[in-house]
Amino acid sequence: MKTFKILNQQACCEPSTGCCTPESTLPVAIIGAGPVGLAAAAQLAARKQPFVLLEAGNEVAASVRSWGHVRLFSPWQYNIDAAAKTLLQQTDWQEPNGEEIPTGNELIDLYLKPLAELEQIKPFIYTNHPVIALARQNHDKMKSKARNDQPFVIYTEVQGQLKTFQARAVLDATGTWGHPNPAQGNGVWLPSEKALAERIDYHIPNVAVNASLYSNKKVAVIGGGHSAINSLLNLAELKKQSPDTDITWIMRKENVEMAYGGEQNDELMARGALGSRIRQLVDEGKINVVTPFFISSLKGTESISIMGTQRGENIVLEGFDRLVVNTGSRPDYTINGELRLATDPTTESVTALASLIDPNEHSCGTVEAHGETTLRQPEQGFYVVGAKSYGRAPTFLMATGYEQVRSIVAFLAGDEESAKRVELSLPETGVCNSGAGGCC
Ligand SMILES: Cc1cc2nc3c(=O)[nH]c(=O)nc-3n(C[C@H](O)[C@H](O)[C@H](O)COP(=O)(O)OP(=O)(O)OC[C@H]3O[C@@H](n4cnc5c(N)ncnc54)[C@H](O)[C@@H]3O)c2cc1C
Repeated sequence: MKTFKILNQQACCEPSTGCCTPESTLPVAIIGAGPVGLAAAAQLAARKQPFVLLEAGNEVAASVRSWGHVRLFSPWQYNIDAAAKTLLQQTDWQEPNGEEIPTGNELIDLYLKPLAELEQIKPFIYTNHPVIALARQNHDKMKSKARNDQPFVIYTEVQGQLKTFQARAVLDATGTWGHPNPAQGNGVWLPSEKALAERIDYHIPNVAVNASLYSNKKVAVIGGGHSAINSLLNLAELKKQSPDTDITWIMRKENVEMAYGGEQNDELMARGALGSRIRQLVDEGKINVVTPFFISSLKGTESISIMGTQRGENIVLEGFDRLVVNTGSRPDYTINGELRLATDPTTESVTALASLIDPNEHSCGTVEAHGETTLRQPEQGFYVVGAKSYGRAPTFLMATGYEQVRSIVAFLAGDEESAKRVELSLPETGVCNSGAGGCC
């Protein structure tokens, strides 16, 4: 097993070389190089704090890449972290027009990749480094004595080899995108659904690139949020060339109007426009809607059958070639098992955030800015940030995550006054005012 330490931002040294790092100079470890993890790196670089950024994928923002063909709904002005922008402006980076709305691929190629290439950041990014566990040195979860004096140990698995890092603080920015919810209405991953994995997309499929999978096929999209709407719009586009493509939209909402969201009342215009476009397609009869429908199980033979209930009656929807399941995603806390973590029982978000974001209670526009104090965990020096901090709540915006990590980094750098300040301003939005949730 190799043990790596970071000395004054120089890359790894091994114990065999006798190179030792005083604990005061240990880096901050960021887990996950999505938009929020990279913003944390920019904030740390700007404050000249040593850090390492460990990313499971073979490039930064690997999760965003998987939906890279999808256009975001927030324009560039909300998608770029302030510290990242300042660093980038010191290079020949071309800042995108703040009013325009990028696709996921553009977000990576025009902003996140150039950010990751900066000389203040690039040497400290480790791609292909999936983190498999986090712990306190020489302490399991139970042991309290001198716990806070111990560094964190971060375990990664690289090409079959275990590799560890040490850190003085850890920001878990691993998102939730890799852990989708199932189609099953009670949220249970049944073996019968798992067995159909090859015929189900749990992301927003790139229908244009993989047209043969959907063209003139009978496809059901399950879910009532924006991901489902994006999938439906892509399928409707394909239907223009392949008119026998049969599209069914299945969701739990009481009626389809609830899925259209704020439309013209949404201050994020592109998000409102998604609702209006899907309404038109439904009205034109290009999409069959089945709602409210609670899926109890799936069965696959030659075609896929969906078993469930509608207004108390047992129903089987039959004959599907393929399913697109966009029912949201959930956090995976497996890597955090040996740390003392507080999460909310309903949303699985950071506990103190739950009352701000619970979709049973809130519209998407009511989330207040929050920082280090709100995100503190019982495990001192450990923070869950970004999309993962919202748990299952679907309303996370990148700008919220940028403010989270700005505040935490200020605190870690000893700037408590800045850590306490709230510097976030988000557009108000009418989406989700129904209280039904389903923003993304
Ligand atoms: C289709 C879609 C559209 C969206 N549109 C918008 C929008 O318009 N505006 C907006 O503000 N928000 C939008 N969001 C919501 C949100 O802002 C994004 O999902 C954003 O990517 C979240 O950033 P993140 O850094 O928290 O997590 P992610 O982008 O999910 O990044 C997590 C990173 O961690 C890595 N990782 C995961 N597990 C490990 C591990 N064990 N070890 C190491 N690395 C790991 C992943 O590979 C990934 O690179 C959208 C979301 C989706 C899905």
